Amino acid sequence: MNSVFDYSGFLEETLQESRKHAERGQVASYIPELKKADPRMAGVALMTPQGLFEAGDSRVDFTLQSISKVISLLVALEQRGVEAVFSKVGSEPTGDSFNSIVKLETSEQKPLNPMINAGAIAVCSLIPGSSVEDRFARIADLLEKILGRPVEVDESVYKSEKETGHRNRALAYFLKDINGLEGDVEEVLDLYFRQCSILVNCADLARIGMFLATKGIGDDGTPIVSAKAVRLASAFMVTCGMYNGSGEFAIQVGIPAKSGVSGGILGVVPGQYGVATFGPALDRKGNSVVGISMLRRLSEVLDFSIF
Ligand code: GLN
Repeated sequence: MNSVFDYSGFLEETLQESRKHAERGQVASYIPELKKADPRMAGVALMTPQGLFEAGDSRVDFTLQSISKVISLLVALEQRGVEAVFSKVGSEPTGDSFNSIVKLETSEQKPLNPMINAGAIAVCSLIPGSSVEDRFARIADLLEKILGRPVEVDESVYKSEKETGHRNRALAYFLKDINGLEGDVEEVLDLYFRQCSILVNCADLARIGMFLATKGIGDDGTPIVSAKAVRLASAFMVTCGMYNGSGEFAIQVGIPAKSGVSGGILGVVPGQYGVATFGPALDRKGNSVVGISMLRRLSEVLDFSIF
C-alpha cells in the first residue's frame, strides 16, 4: 500500500458499511456496569508508518477487559521468565468460552492458555510486587511506556466486576486448590479486575498494536519489551485471542488479535500496522460484531493476513 492511499476515507467507508451489523449482537450484561454501553457506537483506528488514521468513535474510552491479558502476560514473561509462566498456564486453544470452568480439571492441572480468564488470573498471580498497588503499577507502567501517557482505571466498572465476578472468583479459588495460583486469591482477583478496568480508546489500542507489530519497540525507537515476549504473546493472540472464535477469525482476518467484552479488538499486522476497533455489541463468543466486520474488510483491502 503506498503513501497516497486514502486511509481516512477508507476507514470511514468501512465503518459506515459495518456499523449496521451492531443489531446482530448484544452488549455484555454479566458485568452490570457494561450494560450501560450504547450498542450503536463504532470506532476504528489504524497506526501506519505514515501516522495514525481513525474514524467514528475512535476517541471514546472503554475498559480494556480481556485485552489486558496481553499486557499482563508481557509483564509476567519479562519479570518472571518463560518457564515460570508456562508452569502455570498451557499453550493450547480451547473450544470453550472465555470464562469456562470445564477444562480446569484436566490431566495437566493448569488452564489451557493465558487468554482465557482462568489462565489470565494465573498469570496475574505471577506479577511481582509487595501489594496489589505495587503489582498493578507494573502493568500500568508498561502501558504508560507504550502510550506515552498515564493510564486510569474506570472505578465503577472495577467495583461492578469485583462485586459480581463470582465465576472468576470460583476459577481463582479452584486454581489455588490445584496449586495453580501464587499468593493470596483475593489480591490476585483484585489485580485482575483492576487491569480489566483500565480505560483506553481505539487510538491507544492502535498504538499498542504497532508496538507489538514492531516487536516491542516504542514510538521513539527504544525497545520496551523483548522481541521474544512479543513473539509468544502474538502467537497466543493468533491461536486464542478471539477465544473459541479464533479459528474463524484466523481464516477471515488472519492476524494476531485480542478482544474484550466491552467491545474493543486489538489487532497486530506484523511489521506493518497496529489496528483497533470498538463496537460494544458482541456475538455469542464475546467478540464485537462490528469490530470483526470492519477487520474483515480492512484485511481484504490492505492484505493483512499473515498466512
Ligand atoms: N473482565 C472480564 C471477565 O473476566 C474480561 C472478559 C473478557 O473481556 N472477555 O469476565
